[in-house]
Amino acid sequence: MAAHPLDDATGARYTRASGLMTGTLVFRRVRPIDPAAGLESAEEMDVVVEGGRITRIGRDAAANLVGAERGVRFVERPGAWLLPGLVDLHAHLREPGAEGKEDIASGLRAAAAGGFVDVCCMPNTRPVNDSRAITEMLIAKARAQNGARLHPVGAITVGQKGQELAEMADMREGGAVAVSDDGRCVTNSQVMRRALEYAATFDLTVIQHAEDHALTEGAQMHEGAVSSRLGLRGWPRVAEDVIVARDLLLTEYVGARYHVAHLSTEGAVRLLREAKSRGISATAEVTPHHLLLTDEAIGLYDAACKVNPPLREARDVEALRGALADGTIDCVATDHAPHGVLDKEVELAEAAPGIVGLELCVPLLLGLVRQGVLPLSRLVTSLTTAPARIAGIDPPSLREGACADLVLIDPAAHWTIEATRMKSKSTNTPFLGKKVQGRVLMTLCEGRSLHEDWEA
Ligand SMILES: [Zn+2]
Repeated sequence: MAAHPLDDATGARYTRASGLMTGTLVFRRVRPIDPAAGLESAEEMDVVVEGGRITRIGRDAAANLVGAERGVRFVERPGAWLLPGLVDLHAHLREPGAEGKEDIASGLRAAAAGGFVDVCCMPNTRPVNDSRAITEMLIAKARAQNGARLHPVGAITVGQKGQELAEMADMREGGAVAVSDDGRCVTNSQVMRRALEYAATFDLTVIQHAEDHALTEGAQMHEGAVSSRLGLRGWPRVAEDVIVARDLLLTEYVGARYHVAHLSTEGAVRLLREAKSRGISATAEVTPHHLLLTDEAIGLYDAACKVNPPLREARDVEALRGALADGTIDCVATDHAPHGVLDKEVELAEAAPGIVGLELCVPLLLGLVRQGVLPLSRLVTSLTTAPARIAGIDPPSLREGACADLVLIDPAAHWTIEATRMKSKSTNTPFLGKKVQGRVLMTLCEGRSLHEDWEA
């Protein structure tokens, strides 16, 4: 991977601090998994963290520390996996403007509880993050939390109105890692062309919320047999597909970095696969809910399942799973979208779309690994190096000398998803009450413990 142009810059981009943690932490006999570092074995190893960095990885690498001096903390959990800290390319932390649903502090706590150490936050706040000032304010607030690192995504257009390009250069200087009008689609082809051209000059990825709004007006769910049965206005697949098709053509024409947010349709998978086969610089993400649920889940008008883009059909889910497994879809992103009870416990037509995702991503997707749908190494890559590369941030890594950004997971732990144990201010998820297997035990960022949960 080529070095990112800003990696060595002194700008506001959220770079890692050095040596915040001074003690020694030893993970005894864990299973390190980091495909990018060649660690995929089931072999138990020790991982030693000193001064905020990983200093040793290997069989019995910590043997000489056992029974040694005070000041060494041992974490021993037979069978537990140690992964690089996770990266979320797409989260809504609601600050500024809707802090009752989530704010940077609670959002970053939720992220840590889910194993995430890097969180990219979307700009559709109030006001919209379309400026360097807001970008810098978000980063400053996050730094004060001393938690997971926050990476703002700036707006593509001023106010996300889809017309005038925002000052991408300034936002980039302020620390923005990508641009997106997420929540709204850049539908005007000329604006999109200019956005791709302009962003490319700074090597910024343009993240598109692919939705032809003219085709989805008044829509409440996916357009198909279920919407017909329920008598609800549908959001057809083609509303996503036409935008992805156009954007891929524009990306090829101008040469740029293009990324499809929350890709949800079989057709968009096909288009992306074809574009990638021709070397077009396009990437995509998929959310846990689009990988796990279909439009049937909306059942009796369940607003918890209302999301944008909507839950699709079984054939879409199958296509998304296959595309994530074979790398056509590059990464998983949570699209963490907190909403309060007042936004959800209303008529479906009035309900706000969105599902919280940061804390439940790993336990939910480990189910797909156990079912043989998704190789574990692909899941790890899709939550670490792949999203980091798209955002141009250093991926957390399980290598000696790397910053200690780590997540410890017990893949065998059974538990039930409950609102009361969530760190997010909002608990809008259709997965409440679901029994899952696999739990984040500990999240370390720059050697600091951000989250621990040792209950069996
Ligand atoms: Zn979106």
